[in-house]
Amino acid sequence: MSFKSLKLNKPILRAIADKGYDNPTLIQEKAIPFILDKKDIIASAQTGTGKTAAFALPILQLLYDKQDAPKKGKKIRALVISPTRELATQIQNSFQNYSTYTNLRTTVVFGGTSIEPQKEILKKGVDILIATPGRLLDLHKQNIINLDYIETFVLDEADLMLDMGFIDDVKKIERLCPESKQTLLFSATMPYKVEALAKTILTTPERIEVTKQSSTSKNVEQLLYFVPKPKKIELCLHLLRNTIKKHRVIIFRRTKYGVDKLEKTLLKNGYTADSIHGDKTQSNRQIALNRFKKNEVNILVATDVAARGIDVTNLDAVINFDIPNSPETYVHRIGRTARAGALGVAYSFCSADEKTYIIAIQKLINQQLDVIADHPYPLDPKAKKEVHTSKKTGSKHKKGRKSIASKKKKKRWY
Ligand code: AMP
Repeated sequence: MSFKSLKLNKPILRAIADKGYDNPTLIQEKAIPFILDKKDIIASAQTGTGKTAAFALPILQLLYDKQDAPKKGKKIRALVISPTRELATQIQNSFQNYSTYTNLRTTVVFGGTSIEPQKEILKKGVDILIATPGRLLDLHKQNIINLDYIETFVLDEADLMLDMGFIDDVKKIERLCPESKQTLLFSATMPYKVEALAKTILTTPERIEVTKQSSTSKNVEQLLYFVPKPKKIELCLHLLRNTIKKHRVIIFRRTKYGVDKLEKTLLKNGYTADSIHGDKTQSNRQIALNRFKKNEVNILVATDVAARGIDVTNLDAVINFDIPNSPETYVHRIGRTARAGALGVAYSFCSADEKTYIIAIQKLINQQLDVIADHPYPLDPKAKKEVHTSKKTGSKHKKGRKSIASKKKKKRWY
């Protein structure tokens, strides 16, 4: 199927050609006709499937067909809600690219940065607004944003949005938009709570499912290292020194404290690395991401939630420094390697207390990970589960986890 046969108009087709896309991805093929037809949709699709263009292209076309307002009189007619600032910025970039040959205007608003410049842009008039929930409600309260003219409302990464505690904000925003609007819900996974939300905000939606087979495909070599917890750093340095070398790698850790600690060790050992997690300022997170994207650093250390949704391509490897306790998270993580048919490697470091997570992962992906026994820091197979019951001092991570910033911003726990 070609983009032309999706009945997209010339200015949009031209922008797609500029981006070098030859054919629509599966989610685009399925979603674009429904969206152009003004249907509500519920789509399960992960980052990397081309889902942003799947809603951005038809939204631009619908708005383009009806553009009549002069610049100053522009009303916000499409609203996209995103859980994280990075993802919101990425969506904005996509809209801007795809609308190059139209006079449709897009802007993005999110917290953590000054509100004044955002107000100025909004006052000049935009057609499409990308926003994180908190800042959107702030601006609405201040009468800077009018949602009365919304024709299409997009909820992106709905599962993450709910995990982050945005459910009430999302419902509030939805109610602020006209009842007659078209609503598009995208979610990487479809847990019960997402289905429940969908029931309340969607009207006879079309259901679309796109599973990214490649996420656990033959394109990703999945290697499992059993290693004592205190030796994980040494194993990581060993692999970086001997195997991964200058390759591009994301190292996932469960906590912000763990991310900071590992980053410091890597820098001390002469590696070029940066990190992203929820306690870093927005601009520092963006700087880290840009440095990684531009190859100024080849290692990015990240927590799952801060990294999720970020479009980082051409990864050679992913290191699961901590094994995620949710098997779906494992699938997300390793889905970042080996995009577009290239070969990638996922290294998983499993300590004694994480063995049960591996069992759950193997069950979900219906596949056995390749155990690499030949490495310098093997785990004694008889090692007992490390029990984390109350020691006198409590968790050794306690201090790091409860930073001042995280205490202040309770909602942003990631
Ligand atoms: P997304 O899932 O929206 O994060 O998109 C993942 C990546 O796929 C982005 O880098 C897009 O630029 C790219 N992309 C989107 N649609 C296509 C397409 N039809 N052909 C090739 N690449 C695409």
